[in-house]
Amino acid sequence: RAKAFGKSQLALYSDALQEEANQRLNLENALSEALAQRQFELFYQPIVQVSAGRSQVVGVEALLRWWQGTRLVSPDEFIPVLEESGEIVEVGEWVLQQACTQVRQWHQQGLAGLRCSVNLSSRQLQEQGFANRVAQILRETGLPPSSLVLEITESLLMRDVPDTLAALRELESMGIRIALDDFGTGFSSLGYLHRYPLHIIKVDKSFITKAPDDERLKAISRAIIGLGRGLDMDVIAEGIETPEQMDFLHNEGCNFVQGYWFSRPQSALDIYPILEQLSNQVRAPEVGSLEAA
Ligand code: C2E
Ligand code: MG
Ligand code: MG
Ligand code: MG
Repeated sequence: RAKAFGKSQLALYSDALQEEANQRLNLENALSEALAQRQFELFYQPIVQVSAGRSQVVGVEALLRWWQGTRLVSPDEFIPVLEESGEIVEVGEWVLQQACTQVRQWHQQGLAGLRCSVNLSSRQLQEQGFANRVAQILRETGLPPSSLVLEITESLLMRDVPDTLAALRELESMGIRIALDDFGTGFSSLGYLHRYPLHIIKVDKSFITKAPDDERLKAISRAIIGLGRGLDMDVIAEGIETPEQMDFLHNEGCNFVQGYWFSRPQSALDIYPILEQLSNQVRAPEVGSLEAA
């Protein structure tokens, strides 16, 4: 009897595995059509500079979304699949092209100097001629290199491919800035911070979420902020959801923040009025000035 029970468990287990494999295959197939079917869309989240009680939007991070029918699929579900298949190279190029075009358009609509942050996968950086391709996209879209920020993660640096350093240096020499995303969550080595040309540290939201109540997390955030400032890097705190977190970060001297407190990531159309609202230096474009631009 025990044996029979064991067998049926095994059968269930292998059914579950089969089911999982099928789902994965369906996902891969659906994804390989997604670009051609125009199912990808970029959402944007403001990056805000806070100083002396004034907040000012300084940039946006482009975040990829996939419309599977009416379901909006989160990048954590599909980026790893695209990375594995290698399709991230093509999709990532689309993201870059799309984000640069959009932000350039916002510059022309009055949000001059707005920075455009784009997430990179390691596969993209390892592509031959990646920096040239970026330069070409900047030329084609008219976005100044100084307005582009490329976000990479520690895991990308961990691979320590010699070409990675060369590619990053090339990008830096073009005037592009490099941000180290999700700092503190990977297998961080402080050696990265001086070995690679990095201009921005993004404190991972896992440190921020509980920061005001948790002394240990607070200490970690404080240390990362100090590290960044000591190295003359900009520090952006991710995942700000409450005014208490804002106060804490401001007191610690972290002047750049991003999070639901200001805005959730939204479509280009929906984010524009929020960007205008968050940019107190900028006037709305006058009627007719858009055609002239
Ligand atoms: P990330 O680059 O660290 O992006 C920040 C993530 O935090 C975003 O998740 C954003 O929606 C979320 N977030 C922002 N503010 C808050 C907040 O206040 N609270 C909480 N709980 N979350 C907040 P999202 O959009 O789901 O993206 C997840 C990750 O997917 C990104 O993490 C990035 O690593 C990756 N990703 C997104 N777009 C791209 C892309 O175009 N290319 C590549 N290679 N990766 C991308
Ligand atoms: Mg990012
Ligand atoms: Mg992050
Ligand atoms: Mg992340």
